[in-house]
Amino acid sequence: SGVANLQPYVPGKPIEELQRQYGVRNVIKLASNENPLGPPKAAVAAVAMAAKEMARYPDGNGYALKLALAEKHQVAPEQITLGNGSNDVLEMVARAFAGAGDEIIFSEHAFAVYGIVTQAIGASPVVTQAKDYGYDLDAIHKAISSRTKIIFIANPNNPTGTWLEPEKIKLFLEKVPEKVLVVLDEAYVEYLNMEENSVPWLQDFHNLIITRTFSKAYGLAGLRVGYSLSHPEVADLMNRVRQPFNVSNLAQSAAVAALGDEAYLQQTRDVNQAGMKQLVAGFEKMGLQYIPSRANFITVNVHTNAFEVYDELLYEGVIVRPVANYGLPQHLRVSIGLAEENQRFLDALSGILGRG
Ligand code: PMP
Repeated sequence: SGVANLQPYVPGKPIEELQRQYGVRNVIKLASNENPLGPPKAAVAAVAMAAKEMARYPDGNGYALKLALAEKHQVAPEQITLGNGSNDVLEMVARAFAGAGDEIIFSEHAFAVYGIVTQAIGASPVVTQAKDYGYDLDAIHKAISSRTKIIFIANPNNPTGTWLEPEKIKLFLEKVPEKVLVVLDEAYVEYLNMEENSVPWLQDFHNLIITRTFSKAYGLAGLRVGYSLSHPEVADLMNRVRQPFNVSNLAQSAAVAALGDEAYLQQTRDVNQAGMKQLVAGFEKMGLQYIPSRANFITVNVHTNAFEVYDELLYEGVIVRPVANYGLPQHLRVSIGLAEENQRFLDALSGILGRG
């Protein structure tokens, strides 16, 4: 079956594992595009309150969270599907709308979960070539066949950080046949520093599914909560394959609180922007090429076997992410951290590469 051929998703190495295996202290993790500020305080307080309800099942329909999201996005609650992280939502899309014999299109260097969910349901992946490390929408359009059920597009993309302008996506949506679903994965959209808004497109394109997450800019990766916005009929079908209590009560409460914390979001953007500048300046000083990124990470060409550099960084107590499994064997993806974390990474990297 498809499952035997699956390449497992490789998560960032946990800090504790590194401390034990390598005996390093003061480990910093810049490997999973997490928020370096830690969680929003309001969310921590909300979790403490919700913990008192731990003996009870969560609200399986996520009433309060859907209401808050409906307000934020100006959509109806029936357009929202909640997931145990947006990965869960991506999987629901695949399970609800495709199966054996169907085709699912995504790009080279695109988020690994698209391939995993495609193979898990026995569908055939159709992988288009990248253009400047990002998406080639014309190539994707040409790849559509009578068997195509879903197209996955991450904007910004992980692991390359590339970004497609909204007008290009809109033109693309106009060309895609209505029976093909387009998943616009906006896990990093909050980092764009602009009021990016693809949500109104939902009115024109009933085959559009926008996915978002609380794991990145909202600082709740460990609680696992994400969602999609779509036409209500699409949401209805996704809900039929959803596990009944897929988002915990702690996660739901924290997400509602996080939505209300605008100051945290702004601080997140500020820290990210400053950290991005710091890393880019460091790479330029070392003469390293990098892929310009719009997200909370950046992918740099170390011009040698990146896995070896990754391993040496581990000995220095710095966890980053090699991206050879994304077809980029000489690149490392580093998440933007706090200023001192970024500096430790840059110092360790320049020591290892002998570039100052
Ligand atoms: N989409 C993209 C593009 C991502 O990079 C990630 C996180 N690695 C996700 C979705 C899933 O994140 P989560 O399940 O934590 O919402």
